[in-house]
Amino acid sequence: MECGEISGLIMKYMDGDISEVEQKLLDKHKLSCEKCSKEFEILTEMAEFISGLPELSAPAGFESRVMERIRHQRSRTSMFNMLMGTAGLLVFAYYMTIFVIVPGFQESGILQIIFGYGSIVLKLIGECITKIIVYLPITIDNLLILRSILVRDYMNMMLFVAGGAMLLNLGLIRVINLQQE
Ligand SMILES: [Zn+2]
Repeated sequence: MECGEISGLIMKYMDGDISEVEQKLLDKHKLSCEKCSKEFEILTEMAEFISGLPELSAPAGFESRVMERIRHQRSRTSMFNMLMGTAGLLVFAYYMTIFVIVPGFQESGILQIIFGYGSIVLKLIGECITKIIVYLPITIDNLLILRSILVRDYMNMMLFVAGGAMLLNLGLIRVINLQQE
């Protein structure tokens, strides 16, 4: 057998996946070839040295601390985007009501009809506001849970873009209204 082939057998031996026949070939060659015998010796000594080294491991709790940090960071940016998006929506709704819906109602006379019901309407509005105040935190909680279930980063990005677009729209509505006045 040639020395080149023996190198392959030595590698197999190191990997622990040498067959009985190959082992015999290797042993036989080692007796007759000093070069391969030396190579075998050096490699096995090296392997022993390496396996004797203490295993390096991260300090206890390292991974969980890192993950915790990532989560914390994420939920913070998500919260910001969520608030940004919500604020955008609310402001948009407010301006839509003041500048678009209410003037439309006034022109069509619906507002007068609604105000005709006076106290009933006011009572209903009061109840609505109370309900909103009571259920809003619950709704926001649910939204946050839902959001974390949905694809996070995509949702955040979309909310952020929506918020930005709505703020732009508000600016436009304001400018249009100023021009009309
Ligand atoms: Zn040899």
